[in-house]
Amino acid sequence: MIPFELSVKVELSSDLHISGVGRTAVLIDRCIERDAQGRPYIPSTSFKGRVRAHYERLLSALGYDLGDCKPPAPGGMCNDVNNLCPACALFGSPVQQSRVEFTALTPDATAEPTTRIGVGVNRKLNTVEQGRLFFYEAAPQTRVNTFTGTVRGWATETEIAQLIAAIKLITHFGGQKARGLGRVQAEVAHAWLKAGEEWNSRDPKELLRLLQEVRP
Ligand SMILES: [Zn+2]
Repeated sequence: MIPFELSVKVELSSDLHISGVGRTAVLIDRCIERDAQGRPYIPSTSFKGRVRAHYERLLSALGYDLGDCKPPAPGGMCNDVNNLCPACALFGSPVQQSRVEFTALTPDATAEPTTRIGVGVNRKLNTVEQGRLFFYEAAPQTRVNTFTGTVRGWATETEIAQLIAAIKLITHFGGQKARGLGRVQAEVAHAWLKAGEEWNSRDPKELLRLLQEVRP
């Protein structure tokens, strides 16, 4: 098992309109929450759930046996610690602790409104009015379309590669898929794997190549 950390970038391809704090906003759906500052984010549970769903699909496609495991209902998942499917072994089940941890996906800092300093201008005279320095709220970004988050844990190199692939397969967040909302493109921007005491940066694409060689 290798300690690892993946930094994930999620870009919305359908709109998430934010018209400023306190005003109406068209959100993807309930999977988008707002933090105390009113900024939208995708909760860690939604992030993890979506990655797990694609991880399971990927493993089935690769020929792994997932048995009768039917998440997310705890009763439908692997309940024998000595006989876990590969998804429960990594993501956890009622009898097995998860080896992966997900942060929330939060908007890039650049998408936030900023307060700027302005100088008062008398438009008629086209001169700067003395002492008229003021602050104003810069036009808030009307769209937030990049979210970032982190996945970390312990896994084999193959499992890490499968995680990277599963993240790449995410096409939407939330339950409004039919209305075309919440479409996303997701990818692992950076990967770090620990070897001994050192954290080494690894190319996610190079890790993905492992999947072409490894078969169950
Ligand atoms: Zn299972």
